Amino acid sequence: MPENSVPSGSVVSCHLERPLDDDAWRRFDAMRRRFDVIALIRPPDASYGEDEELWLERARTLDLPGLHTHWTSPTHARPTGGADPAERVRREAEWMRERGVEPRWFCGGGWYSDDAVRATVAELGLVDCTPRCGPAAPGVLPTTHSLGQLARALMRRLPPYVHAYFHDYDLLDASRRIALIASLRVLGMRTSALDASSAIKKSHGTR
Ligand SMILES: [Zn+2]
Repeated sequence: MPENSVPSGSVVSCHLERPLDDDAWRRFDAMRRRFDVIALIRPPDASYGEDEELWLERARTLDLPGLHTHWTSPTHARPTGGADPAERVRREAEWMRERGVEPRWFCGGGWYSDDAVRATVAELGLVDCTPRCGPAAPGVLPTTHSLGQLARALMRRLPPYVHAYFHDYDLLDASRRIALIASLRVLGMRTSALDASSAIKKSHGTR
């Protein structure tokens, strides 16, 4: 990629909110075999009794693992005061790395971020998918389109950069799943896949 060009193309990510749910995992597993999907996975929360072994068994199979931090609970993404949000991001990334799962992307739960979180994400070498608009840049791949927004956008001329996302639990609903597969097929025909790792390579100065 030339140094000054704005990266164009498409990226798809999934927020794995329920990685321990057998049905959600099975559906996600089928999707990733058909499409390149960045897997922004929520680490297990031991304080809610989530099974770390089963989580690791699944997470270790991910080709494109990323970190999706929930600060409050498995079902409450954003921080609710007290704890230091950036510290949790660091702790979760390190926990994953120590167990052989190397996250390369990050998305804050509930789209939460702050200056300290952004600095920590950059320091950890993760590509930040939390912003909701703007161009792709070294270290940042903003998430631009929900499932519904993607379906509508495909009816018009597409912007040069599209980062579509869905949740693992979206796949449990047959009509949403079918709509997503149809949209991703069309997206794949109309855009080239952006090398989601290019931002990492550039920020590390290896290319
Ligand atoms: Zn979430």
